[in-house]
Amino acid sequence: MNFTPALLPSIIEAIDEAIQKNAEEVTALDQAIGDGDHVTNLQRGIHALMDQRNELSKLDWVSAWQKIGMTLMSTVGGASGSLFGTLFIAMSKSGREQILNLASFAAIFTQAVESVKLRGKVTVGEKTMIDVLEPVARCLEKAAINAIELTELLEKIVQVAVAGVESTRDMLATKGRASFLGERTIGHIDAGARTTQLMICAVMSVLVKQSASPS
Ligand code: ADP
Ligand code: MG
Repeated sequence: MNFTPALLPSIIEAIDEAIQKNAEEVTALDQAIGDGDHVTNLQRGIHALMDQRNELSKLDWVSAWQKIGMTLMSTVGGASGSLFGTLFIAMSKSGREQILNLASFAAIFTQAVESVKLRGKVTVGEKTMIDVLEPVARCLEKAAINAIELTELLEKIVQVAVAGVESTRDMLATKGRASFLGERTIGHIDAGARTTQLMICAVMSVLVKQSASPS
């Protein structure tokens, strides 16, 4: 199975739709323990990517990740903008001159998540997007070691991402704006974790469709 950047328009459209559909819920999450701007911030980036989607589909993955990262970095704003931007720019850096397969992608993604952790000075358990990104990276790494069916992997990633969001509910926020509220953050899901999961699930839905009907 070969996933090429020709899938990027469908992926970006699926992400746009998923965030739009859940915008009210995410805004409520960010209002509860943040300042409520997370969806607006993110949608600025997604709309910029929508405008670039055809151009992106003609690049190789490394150039596409670089362009996506730069676009997110310059349009999203907020704490999340530089973190989402870092994720893609780091993927582009570590993906250079690599032949892409599950094992190399797992390593590239893991490295990129490490870059986000460094940038955000954050680790798992601090009630951020990392609580979704890190388990997904672990899942990819495990799958690269123990050969697993592609459809099973895509399903597993969805499960791990959903569990990651849910795990943020009982966490105490120690990073970002939410950390100012201390104990009051307990009982709320993190908005950035939720949008990260929604985006990952949107990507998986496109990949599942593609693997079911290869063109
Ligand atoms: P801001 O907090 O500046 O208003 P956003 O609302 O766009 O920015 O994004 C908030 C989200 O960013 C949070 O829900 C959290 O997931 C993520 N976030 C904030 N700070 C950090 C950090 N230091 N490391 C990782 N993620 C973070
Ligand atoms: Mg905010």
